Amino acid sequence: MMAEMHPLHAPWRMEYIRALESGEAGKPGECFICLANAADSLQQSKDRLVLWTSQHSIVLMNKFPYTNGHLLIAPRAHKAELEELSADELLDLQSQTVEAMRVLRRAMSPQGFNIGINLGRCAGAGLPGHLHQHIVPRWNGDVNFMSVVGEVRIVPQALSVLYHELLRAR
Ligand SMILES: [Zn+2]
Repeated sequence: MMAEMHPLHAPWRMEYIRALESGEAGKPGECFICLANAADSLQQSKDRLVLWTSQHSIVLMNKFPYTNGHLLIAPRAHKAELEELSADELLDLQSQTVEAMRVLRRAMSPQGFNIGINLGRCAGAGLPGHLHQHIVPRWNGDVNFMSVVGEVRIVPQALSVLYHELLRAR
């Protein structure tokens, strides 16, 4: 029997949508990816959900995840378009995406992934000024997992616990 592909339901993302509508997200100078990239202590990295950085890229957890393990891979430079990235930046972005998949596989044994970039507000980019690749691990039947336990309040705790699990899995 063919497995059905279910849309993900993430009620806690309402907080994110409200932040977007009120203009709190994505303003120049308040870019959360640049803020994460500027973290200069372990505590700041943890607070800003930074898993690691490479020469050109930063890998962080999505504070408003579609599901557990939803990570973001972005160039460290504040650039909006793929065409603005150098060849080295492009290669590093993809290399770190592969590394993020490896870490997620070790830590969470996902059965599939959604990977993609939303470019521009009309395409769904929440932070159109700083491009970022999403990686969302998927499991068979995972649509039911979060709708069963998916109260908004579990997410911040889950983020912190998972942060350390992902660091260990690297
Ligand atoms: Zn930025």
